[in-house]
Amino acid sequence: MPLDRTVQNKPMQSEKLAHSAVIGALYGAMPDILEPPTNRFHRKFFHSFTTLGAFILILRRVEQRQDYSAGFKAMIRSSLLAYMTHLLLDSRTPMGLPLIF
Ligand SMILES: [Zn+2]
Repeated sequence: MPLDRTVQNKPMQSEKLAHSAVIGALYGAMPDILEPPTNRFHRKFFHSFTTLGAFILILRRVEQRQDYSAGFKAMIRSSLLAYMTHLLLDSRTPMGLPLIF
């Protein structure tokens, strides 16, 4: 007997939500994990507009790929957007972001 579709999807949706939360937390903090904020000038390559631009290009390429599964694309998208959000928020601080490093 088939289950009601909403009941069938609930565990899957909460699992996806948990994965997205973990990916967002990990990759949102990744720039400061790679370049810990130990002083005012800690922002180098991994906190740069160059990295931000590269991630935009990678995101475009991944979205265009037909051979990647929807789940893989969602994982890459979540990771890059979380990382990029960190950079965009840092860019709005008085120290901003370096162009390259
Ligand atoms: Zn940062």
